[in-house]
Amino acid sequence: MRAVPPPAPAADDHGARTDPVLVAGGGPVGLCAALALARAGVPSVVLEAGPDPRTDPARAAGSKAICFQRDVLDVFDRLGAAGPLLAEGTTWTTARTYYRGREVRTVTFPDTPGTPGRLPPWINISQARVERELLRAALASPLVRFVHGHRVTGLAQDTAGVTAATEGAGGSAEWRGSHLVAADGPRSTVRHLLGIGFPGRSFADRFLICDIRADLPFPNERRFYFDPEWNPGRQVLVHQCPDSTWRIDWQVPEDYDAEAERASGGLDRRIRRIVGERPYTVVWSSVYRFHQRCADRLRAGRVLLAGDAAHLYAPFGARGLNSGVHDAENLAWKVAAARRVEAAAPGAAEALLESYHTERRAAAQENLRVTGATMRFLVPHGEDEARLRRQTLERALTDPRARERIDSGKLAEPYWYTASPLTTPLPGAEPVPGEPGRPRPPVPGVICPDASCRDPGAGAPTRLRRLLGPGFTVLVPDAAAAGPVAAATAGLPAPVAVLVLSDLDTPDGAVAEALRCAGTAHVVRPDAHLCAVVPAGDTAAVRAAIRRACGLDRPEAPAPAPGAPAAHRPAGPDR
Ligand SMILES: Cc1cc2nc3c(=O)[nH]c(=O)nc-3n(C[C@H](O)[C@H](O)[C@H](O)COP(=O)(O)OP(=O)(O)OC[C@H]3O[C@@H](n4cnc5c(N)ncnc54)[C@H](O)[C@@H]3O)c2cc1C
Repeated sequence: MRAVPPPAPAADDHGARTDPVLVAGGGPVGLCAALALARAGVPSVVLEAGPDPRTDPARAAGSKAICFQRDVLDVFDRLGAAGPLLAEGTTWTTARTYYRGREVRTVTFPDTPGTPGRLPPWINISQARVERELLRAALASPLVRFVHGHRVTGLAQDTAGVTAATEGAGGSAEWRGSHLVAADGPRSTVRHLLGIGFPGRSFADRFLICDIRADLPFPNERRFYFDPEWNPGRQVLVHQCPDSTWRIDWQVPEDYDAEAERASGGLDRRIRRIVGERPYTVVWSSVYRFHQRCADRLRAGRVLLAGDAAHLYAPFGARGLNSGVHDAENLAWKVAAARRVEAAAPGAAEALLESYHTERRAAAQENLRVTGATMRFLVPHGEDEARLRRQTLERALTDPRARERIDSGKLAEPYWYTASPLTTPLPGAEPVPGEPGRPRPPVPGVICPDASCRDPGAGAPTRLRRLLGPGFTVLVPDAAAAGPVAAATAGLPAPVAVLVLSDLDTPDGAVAEALRCAGTAHVVRPDAHLCAVVPAGDTAAVRAAIRRACGLDRPEAPAPAPGAPAAHRPAGPDR
């Protein structure tokens, strides 16, 4: 890294920095980061190596991710990009797993049709379409500058900011910003420039993915087939996408040759085993190997790694892009608050920026654990693992208890920051279940539950999370609590809005029930996670919780129990 003399950052009338944040990579995660920064009032410059994505045929054709989870759709909604995706995406609520043609496991995700602004548990839509919508929103934002044809090739940072060098069709240039978000994908140049390791493993097993357009009589569900007669000994995943498009994902032998199969007519025969004599066209196809990796550090000084630059997972479970979107939202509010904190006290944002590494690396480790278990079940290595899997599947035909052990991909969900240093613990809180897919109680660390309510200003029906602002939100039970909370939370490094439950709740108290309110104030972070639940009248506790969530007050380390070993687990989220 070169030493660059730190130019003084420009500031507005209130002393806040006006220089941009640099974002390396204009893929979906980089675009989400730029939009989330804009929502927090922070300008950014997105440096994209590739050609103009609006006219790049490769961008329009590719697909990769197709499954988008409800809380990620909620982030898209906050970023102004959800509307068309929700309208166009296919919605599904049921995932079925079959073994040799017989159903062995069914998972149904709760849905709330008819709720104002309802978000379905899942939509399927191509990643290319999602990227187009994120780009549209970014280009419409006065705070986002998107420059294509600029590949980041060099990096230097100092106490005041980051300088990135770019080269490419747009020429050579240097860019200066307060921080840099590395969203430059799996081969991340920024990660290499920083010398950050990316340990993990790559799988030799191969999977063939085809998006085909055909009118098929299948229901709109995720369908996973172990050992179907049309791919004996291996598995197939089928998903419906918009426009009569179907994602079919076959496990294929390690020496599979896609070109040879296509040329010999084998690919047509493979597809016809599923679609029969119906006409079809192949929209997109690709052969993939999968990787399980996580960067050693997700933060180096003023540089934050996000998305595939930070972690790679096998895609059964749809955890790659879905978790990258949460990275982007997590880092954006922290960078915004860090810029304000540093303007007043240089160096004071250290703990807040470090919490990005703590929280999102823990999320990545959890995703690696879950997807690693899936891959061991899907692709058993060695005769013992293969026999165990066969026995589990065969037993599941008659024994419901064995069905729980079938793993065809545990679907993405947000990570809960219950043990994060930013979260104020709630004594006696109900424990948060560790297993994926279990409902979580509304305790500090989890995403604020959603519920139908009305907009207190307009009176129109809406849902709670739509009322959350770009800063912190404190939900208090009644108007009497609102004034003191607003007064107590003035002057903090992030804006704080107060919402009064009695002004917005439905007559049957849907919000109070979802939050399990009992004279409590719920403090919600800018990324919609609850960070504290405290007595509504305890304004000092509300202020302390927000200061803690901004990394300003470090939690006291618990005193070791007498006789306890000196070493203990590092602070960090776990479940
Ligand atoms: C077959 C398959 C299926 C998948 N299905 C799902 C799914 O259903 N759900 C899900 O959540 N995830 C899924 N994923 C994962 C998902 O596709 C990735 O997680 C996602 O693309 C990551 O986005 P990103 O923005 O981090 O990186 P990328 O999409 O790789 O974007 C990186 C961007 O950075 C640019 N760039 C690279 N180097 C530089 C540089 N030096 N300077 C500037 N710009 C640079 C690139 O041109 C690119 O635009 C799937 C992946 C695969 C392979």
